[in-house]
Order: sequence, then C-alpha cells, then structure tokens
Amino acid sequence: MSYETIIGLEVHSELKTKTKIFCNCSTKFGEEPNANTCPICLGLPGTLPVMNEEVVNLAVKAGKAVGCRINQLNKMDRKNYFYPDLPKAYQISQFDLPICEEGLIKIETEDGIRDVRINRIHMEEDAGKLVHMEYEPYTLIDYNRVGVPLIEIVTEPDMRSIEEAITFFKTLKDILEYAGISDCKMEQGSIRCDANISMRKVGDDKLNTRVELKNINSFKELQKALEKEQKRQLELYTYGEEHKIVQETRRWDSGKGKTIPMRSKEEAHDYRYFPEPDVIPIIVSDEIIANAEATMPELPEIKKARLMSEYGISKKEVEVLVADKPLVDYFEELIACGCESKLACNWILGDVLRVLKEEKITANEFAITPAKLFKLLALVSESKISTTAAKTVFEEMLKSWKEPEEIVKEKGLSQISSLDTIDPIIEEVIKNNPSVVEQYKEGKTQVQGFLVGQIMKATKGKANPKMVAELLVEKLNSI
Ligand SMILES: [Zn+2]
Repeated sequence: MSYETIIGLEVHSELKTKTKIFCNCSTKFGEEPNANTCPICLGLPGTLPVMNEEVVNLAVKAGKAVGCRINQLNKMDRKNYFYPDLPKAYQISQFDLPICEEGLIKIETEDGIRDVRINRIHMEEDAGKLVHMEYEPYTLIDYNRVGVPLIEIVTEPDMRSIEEAITFFKTLKDILEYAGISDCKMEQGSIRCDANISMRKVGDDKLNTRVELKNINSFKELQKALEKEQKRQLELYTYGEEHKIVQETRRWDSGKGKTIPMRSKEEAHDYRYFPEPDVIPIIVSDEIIANAEATMPELPEIKKARLMSEYGISKKEVEVLVADKPLVDYFEELIACGCESKLACNWILGDVLRVLKEEKITANEFAITPAKLFKLLALVSESKISTTAAKTVFEEMLKSWKEPEEIVKEKGLSQISSLDTIDPIIEEVIKNNPSVVEQYKEGKTQVQGFLVGQIMKATKGKANPKMVAELLVEKLNSI
C-alpha cells in the first residue's frame, strides 16, 4: 500500500517597518534586551494601541504579490492565552476577517507546475523572546520583539511532498523579499514557519489527522522536521497503529533530531477570540491598493524570464542569481556599467560567489563593487589582459584598494598581443614538439590544445589565447 504526504504551511514573516505595530518603538534587531519597549507594547494599564499605517500597506502589498483578494473592511481580534513572552496575556491578531484571502503561488516541481493556494494572510503582533539560561536555573525575557508587526500566510494543504514544501517556502520567501515586505533574514527569525503534515493512502481524497510542527526557521530544519514526522506517521500507518496519530502540536528539536509532543492541538474557540475593542476596524482604501500595485517591483518569476530572454543566461544560472537578491542586484549593476552579460554571469557565479561564501557575506557587502569589477572585466573584453591574469588581479583586489589597471602594471600582467613577440615563441614550440606536430598532420587536430598550452606557458599566460590559437593553426597548416 502506498501513501502520499499532505502538507500545508503557515509562514510568519516580520514586516519591514521602522516602528512596531501599535507604538513608536523601534523594530531594530540586535538591540540591548528590553531597550525597544514602552508602556504600550509592555501592555501596562491605561495605554491604548494605535495601528501603524505602514503595516496595512505592506500586508496589502503581500496580498497583491500572491494574487489575493483584499478585504477592504477588516478588523483586529484578540487571541487570548497566557505565556510569559506575551505581557498582555492576549495577542492582537485577525480572526474571521483577515486583510487578504484566496491567493495562489505556482511552484515548479518534478512533475510540472503545482498550484499552492493561499487561504489567507492576516496581520498580527509578534511575541517576546524567552532566553533560557544554559547554566542557571532560570529564564530571562526580552520584550524587544513584542509588537513587531507580522503577517501570517496560511496555505491550503496543497503540497504533496517535502520537496514541494521546501520549494514553496523558498518561492514565498523570495517574493516577500523582492516586494520589499520583509527582509527575510532567517537567521534572525524574521521569517519562520509551522508545517501541518498528514498522510493518506494514494487514491483517498479525505484528509486524515494532521500534526503541526512548530517554529521552524530554516529550509534545512523544515526538511529534517518533515522527514522525521513523515517517517513516524508512515510507521504507524504501516503497522495499523494510525489511531495513535492525534491532532497535536509537536516541537522540532534540532539538537535531538526529532519531533516532541508539545500540546494536543487547541481549537480556535479555545482562544476566546473576540473583536479587539481598542483598535478600530481597518478600512483599506482604493488608493492603498492602487499604490501597492503601482509600487510593486519586478517579482522573481518575472525577473527570471526577463534575464533569460534579455541576456541569454541559462535557466540554471538564473535560478542561482534570482534566489539571492543582493547577488542579482549586483549582476544588474554590473550590466548597467556596460559589462557583457555572459562575462558578468561567469564571474559572478564563479569567483565572486566563491569569495562571498568564504567570507559569509552578501553581494551588497562585498568590497569589490560592481563598478570596480567592471574596470577589471573591461580589461579582459578589450584583450588587454588574459582571463588567467584577470584572476590574479581579482585576488589582489581583494587584498588592496588598488585599481585593476595599477595592479596589472605593477605585476606586468599586460597581455601580449604583439605578433613580433608571439611569433618566435610559436615557432619554438613547433620545433620542440615534432611528434605532436606529426599527430596533428595525421588528423588528430585535438593535440592543438596541448601546443596552445605550451605557448601560454612560455609566455607565462600573458599571450592573447585567441591570437595564439589562430596563428598556430595557420602555421601548422602551412607545414
Ligand atoms: Zn512600544
């Protein structure tokens, strides 16, 4: 009997606003604990929340980016529960009238395009952070994150494999980042997800009991958590023990590498949702919607198609570029400087990406700016230096602030394009390799590469390889 996996995701994404959702506290990450707090976000008596307009703008933009319908009249609701990271003992969220509904994201899978429907997007406030001391028997609380605006994007259970769930999460992250809705820094928890997973026999159409996996903040963790839970459920189904799968929330423990039961899954009514009396209903004007549409930047799928058709870059290369926004921005800046697209692409996906990975930085933090790299690549396109020499200059540029031309001069890396210099060297190589020349004459033209290599070696890589190849063939053919 074969089983299929049914997955739905709930993605939480912090919005890129300067201030919190209901007060003027900064949303800046990495500040001193509890520095970004005030009586409003700490929930002290006598304070009242005021909705940050930018939160509404960004939520509408997120909805538009994934094809949602915008509810022009929506409201905030109170979700009641106690936890030490939530000072008010309720979270202001949206219940029955979320700001966006019914969207769609198309993802590429092995079997073609899969439609993943978006059930809803709602706005809410984030909770604080508990710091469990490792060596002391207590926990500290940092309320800086309390009141940071979030959107929660809820999908329908439309994904049929772990790979699809990962692809969806990546696709959504790229959309939110490109549209300027969230900075999507996973390591800072600004985008994270909960995953619902259940199994059923292939051919069945009813949904079986699902398990929710909480607070996953990287693609790798999502993969591992889903794999473990899939195995656990599959084992229970295989041995007729599926009654042991209960609707519950399980926490993914990355250290232990397994999911651990947290609590039996609560129902919505357990939270005693009711309309938030302190925040007036939200009216999304036509103007806000029009503005979200007008200011929508080029989204990843459209960018991919454009880069492929405009610059003739392969699908594989485009995937790498577009998956990393600072990198694709770097590429487009380099092109804007006047760089030839193939050359730009090869260098960025080669040496530039290698250094970025080594230094664990993004392209916008890279010391060699697109303008500076262009100066180097222009020397290559104008045949002033060889590609080999360019690599040497590049390595030197990483260590100093010197201009590429300066390094070329200092290291004597100028390419030899003068016939008078190259000609005798070619003659010499032909003379010293009679048996190779013999093979060439017998029709083994591939040995030409060996001879070019010898010539390049003799010129310390400084000869113009195109010129060398042409001259060499000319000479060999005339013997
Ligand atoms: Zn505050």
